[in-house]
Amino acid sequence: VETAWITDLKRFAVHDGPGIRTTVFFKGCSLACRWCHNPENISFSRELAYFSHKCRHCGLCATLCQAHTVEEGQHRFDRRLCVQCGRCAEACPAEALRLYGREVTVDGLFDEVMEDAPFYAQSSGGVTLSGGECLCQPDFCAALLKKLKEAGVHTAVDTCGQVSRRALEETAAFTDLYLYDIKAFSEEVHHRATGHGNRQILENLRYLDALGKAIEIRIPLVPGYNEDQLPEIGALLSQLPRVTCVRVLAYHRYAAYKYPALGRENLMGETPAPTEEQLSSARQTLERFGLRVEE
Ligand code: SF4
Ligand code: SF4
Repeated sequence: VETAWITDLKRFAVHDGPGIRTTVFFKGCSLACRWCHNPENISFSRELAYFSHKCRHCGLCATLCQAHTVEEGQHRFDRRLCVQCGRCAEACPAEALRLYGREVTVDGLFDEVMEDAPFYAQSSGGVTLSGGECLCQPDFCAALLKKLKEAGVHTAVDTCGQVSRRALEETAAFTDLYLYDIKAFSEEVHHRATGHGNRQILENLRYLDALGKAIEIRIPLVPGYNEDQLPEIGALLSQLPRVTCVRVLAYHRYAAYKYPALGRENLMGETPAPTEEQLSSARQTLERFGLRVEE
């Protein structure tokens, strides 16, 4: 309970809930969305990423570890030999190597996020737990959220909803706002896109709504995957009184470079980002259900 794995902290975040926030990205996710923009947060283990476009082929990493070889201007990284010690990443002069995953304690992370407490107070902001799926580490999140509430900080939890009911029960009392992702209404479409069905996700959404928690819905719009899902999603959301607003987020390709860096296959191929017309038509579809849609 006392420690968790995170990849990053984003300070001065303005899209993860009200005001100025610090967002904590937890490592590890219960879904594996094909379009994931943060693939460094999918695995629960630490990972070394090698960004070939940044590498200057200086050879320093190869002098430190046999997992790297640099010969004739070619760098090779043998992932099987890496034990994620992070030494090469510390030494690399070009930031071509990065170790994702750092273990934090509740108190240590609390102190880190509280460095920006004056900004939260001035802007009616706060702290957002995200990921990956932060609620895959529920005991830690509950302890951190409780401390934040005791300090008077607004808290948000960004979740994909594929989490145990216990995780929600443990954290709900200390969570002011849920940022809840809905990717598809059809179980089959959801399974194809994320590797999981969505029964638990929709049940958990109804549970939070019945609990009276404030919920902001996020729908990633991904051409070829879920544009036909919006009418059914809209109908579902219109029955949930605690859904305060809905945002449609555009799939983009800017994260594609992270896939080879992590030794992952990018399954999205040439899938284009949605056009402005597709985005506004998606938003209009949702508005027809009486939902407050925000950009
Ligand atoms: S230390 Fe960094 S820049 Fe130098 S060869 Fe290794 S990865 Fe490339
Ligand atoms: S993280 Fe450690 S084990 Fe992995 S390649 Fe770098 S130096 Fe070698």
